Amino acid sequence: MAVSFDEELARILREQKWLKEDLVSLLALQDPEAIESLRAAAEAMLLEQCGAGVNLRGLIEFSNLCVCDCLYCGIRKGNRVVERYSLSDDEIIDSARWCAEKGYGSVVLQSGERRDRKFVDRLVANIRVIKEVTRSEKQPNGVGITLCVGEQTREDYQRLHEAGAHRYLLRMETSSRELFAALHPATQSYDNRLACLKTLREVGFMVGTGVMIGIPGQTIEQLADDLLFFRQLDIDMIGMGPYIPHADAAMPADLPVPDVATRMDLAFKMIGIARLMLRDVNIAATTALQALDPVGRERGLRFGANVIMPQVTPLHVRKNYTLYDGKPCLEDSAGQCATCLEQRIDSVGRFIRYDGWGDSAHFARRNNLPVGMNEAPAPHRHVPGQSANKIIKLHLKQ
Ligand code: SAH
Repeated sequence: MAVSFDEELARILREQKWLKEDLVSLLALQDPEAIESLRAAAEAMLLEQCGAGVNLRGLIEFSNLCVCDCLYCGIRKGNRVVERYSLSDDEIIDSARWCAEKGYGSVVLQSGERRDRKFVDRLVANIRVIKEVTRSEKQPNGVGITLCVGEQTREDYQRLHEAGAHRYLLRMETSSRELFAALHPATQSYDNRLACLKTLREVGFMVGTGVMIGIPGQTIEQLADDLLFFRQLDIDMIGMGPYIPHADAAMPADLPVPDVATRMDLAFKMIGIARLMLRDVNIAATTALQALDPVGRERGLRFGANVIMPQVTPLHVRKNYTLYDGKPCLEDSAGQCATCLEQRIDSVGRFIRYDGWGDSAHFARRNNLPVGMNEAPAPHRHVPGQSANKIIKLHLKQ
């Protein structure tokens, strides 16, 4: 008798071997019922390990000046069309203060890459001020700060950490050396990016990484390796989304871009499998998901994501931080984004965790710290599907 997909999935969860061939077969799933089983199991795993709360990080894209020339990126150095900007200190600090007042527990400071002294000095100073001015009764330690400012030296990572940033997101973009080399100029090395991820961990950051999904020429074997890479690095947070072309990028034209449905399906499966495999890490439902599907982030949440990064970049520069075409929320004020988010998150039976940092439960467990499941005061209405319960119980009983 043929083994049903649910039995197959239960076996994979029970064995916890995460063989590459199993990952490849999960990524190759086409049958909608099987994909639904995967989704339901991932959602149940999330609820079990992290609770139903969604953690917000207000996204402040504070500068698009960049010394890198990543072939896929709309703000790469070689793009002479984009208007360059750097927010003033006041604009950055006001955006963070706005987040704290709204109850967003954390902010992400993201920018193009610069490694000069002035850049790091300013960032260090801004982090200090943000930590100071966002203290309140509800947030005695100020907002949590995630940095996403690329490859820096150990000393600079240390300075940024000491200033008060405690999380760092540095996407590997792909774990394949070959594909990495095809996407970046020779001056940007795979080994340095990998070394940075290790250094960040040693310095004490809660570390996130991620990949782009559906890059021209990328195979599902490479995506399976990406998942294994996350596990091998014992990463705390994941941010990944579909690759989206940008008109002024410099990608080689010879390889076709997989169609939108293919990229989105793969992105959701990657989120679901990452949740099942890594259990208690934080996983973002990224903006790129929403760029290709108006409810892409909500669907990401249903596949086990638990972090959303609402836009709070001041409107007058937002259009200049287009990493890819069709970036959503270019016209909506941060206030509009906030109202819209509550409804969106509610629509998938989840709730926003206001005021807490929303750290990765994985990091807490690894460091023997209390795991902040900090549930919302109101009882949440979410009831995971029967099949998910069955699969997850099978697995958790082991
Ligand atoms: N300079 C920082 C921030 C980079 S922008 C750093 O290097 O970490 C944040 C992320 O946007 C990148 O890591 C990349 O994964 C994503 N991105 C860039 N161009 C993209 C594209 N065309 N499609 C999808 N994601 C893209």
